[in-house]
Amino acid sequence: MVRGLILFLLLTGCSTQKTILVLSETDGFRHDSIETGVNAFYSIADDLGLVVIATEDSSRLCNKNYDVVVFLNTTGNILNEQEQQCLREFVESGGGFVGIHSAADTEYDWSWYGETLLGAWFVSHPPVSEETIQVINRSHPSTEHLQGEWTCTDEWYVYDRVPEQATILMEVNDHPISWCSNVGKGRSFYTGRGHTKTSYTENALLEHIKGGLLWVSQ
Ligand SMILES: [Zn+2]
Repeated sequence: MVRGLILFLLLTGCSTQKTILVLSETDGFRHDSIETGVNAFYSIADDLGLVVIATEDSSRLCNKNYDVVVFLNTTGNILNEQEQQCLREFVESGGGFVGIHSAADTEYDWSWYGETLLGAWFVSHPPVSEETIQVINRSHPSTEHLQGEWTCTDEWYVYDRVPEQATILMEVNDHPISWCSNVGKGRSFYTGRGHTKTSYTENALLEHIKGGLLWVSQ
């Protein structure tokens, strides 16, 4: 009886702990904030009781031993066709995807990535500056801790389009900077914030990312 109870607790304990695969592979510009960003994910995961696998190796996408994939400041064409298929199958069958900042500067040769999963690609950016974000949707886990305006310093991307299928969460200078969408049975969340090292010391940004992570992992 006791042995059965212990086994039951072990099994339920194992099955509820979700794993996040944090990919920061680059084939182009490499942000010097990647290490700080990875550490931020360890700390967020710790708060949420999640396990992190941090990797620079996109072939890990085909192991399918994770519940959420994060593209943390990835750049360039980093996935081969098999890896693309693994990621697409994962999300469409109910997995969660989080894109941080230059996740939008990634996989230009894969239309599904930019047009459907992420929603847009990066085009250009002015120098790092302080701007005021308009939080236009505050009924989402990634934004409910924010006020209507959020002033902060970052590198502000301009994108090639307004994401078509997405719910826009925040705008800066009249264009979307964070959004979320359903993709097949899965979910995708993107934020354009996260260029600088110091951004990962802001509690408001960590809460924003944490909320996005929670939303896609439901
Ligand atoms: Zn950047």
